Amino acid sequence: MRKFVLFLVLSAIGFFTNAQNNATKAVKPFGGSEKSETVQTNATKNNTELKLNNAQKELNETDKKFLEKCIELAREAYKAGDDPFGSILVDENNNILATARNRVNEKTAMAHPEIELAQWALDNLTREERRKATMYTTGEHCPMCSGAHGFSEIHRLVFLSSAKQLSAWQKEANMPEAPINFIPSRDIIKNVQIVGPFEGELLEEIKKLQFATFNREKSK
Ligand SMILES: [Zn+2]
Repeated sequence: MRKFVLFLVLSAIGFFTNAQNNATKAVKPFGGSEKSETVQTNATKNNTELKLNNAQKELNETDKKFLEKCIELAREAYKAGDDPFGSILVDENNNILATARNRVNEKTAMAHPEIELAQWALDNLTREERRKATMYTTGEHCPMCSGAHGFSEIHRLVFLSSAKQLSAWQKEANMPEAPINFIPSRDIIKNVQIVGPFEGELLEEIKKLQFATFNREKSK
């Protein structure tokens, strides 16, 4: 009888041990604890990198050169009777892929350069190429263009003046309020390195151009 009880106890232990082993085996492929940890580590790393890049305060020579080109386009828009905004799309080797300027007067209120470039990128570049491209623009995207930038998955956004600054300038010049809220691009677009605004002579240049446009609007 004792032997039988001992047998039962040992069998029970054996059963539970096996069950446990099987359970471990069954979970392993799904658990993938190693894999998810790796993913998490990379995500954390990327987030840190994004934060570092987003904190860029000084313009480097390359970014400055492309923002100067954007100001040229903004000036061209102003001269044509449109709002002074200009944007360019650049590939990973700093080649200019496409340029656009504001055409709201010529076309419609939605003729912003950034949505035009986002559409161009979707039409002409592979996803891989878009994910290595940078969009430079004189003014931070409006929510419509932020959405377009997000959907086109363009890797980086560099803007000279912020939407917040533009709103303040409009207020200062007693311009009528815009029909939408200018939510910051960082609150709309995910997984994009966003840098700006940048203090200095380029910002003063675009500010002057904006005020010239406000004065022109008011004198109409
Ligand atoms: Zn826009």
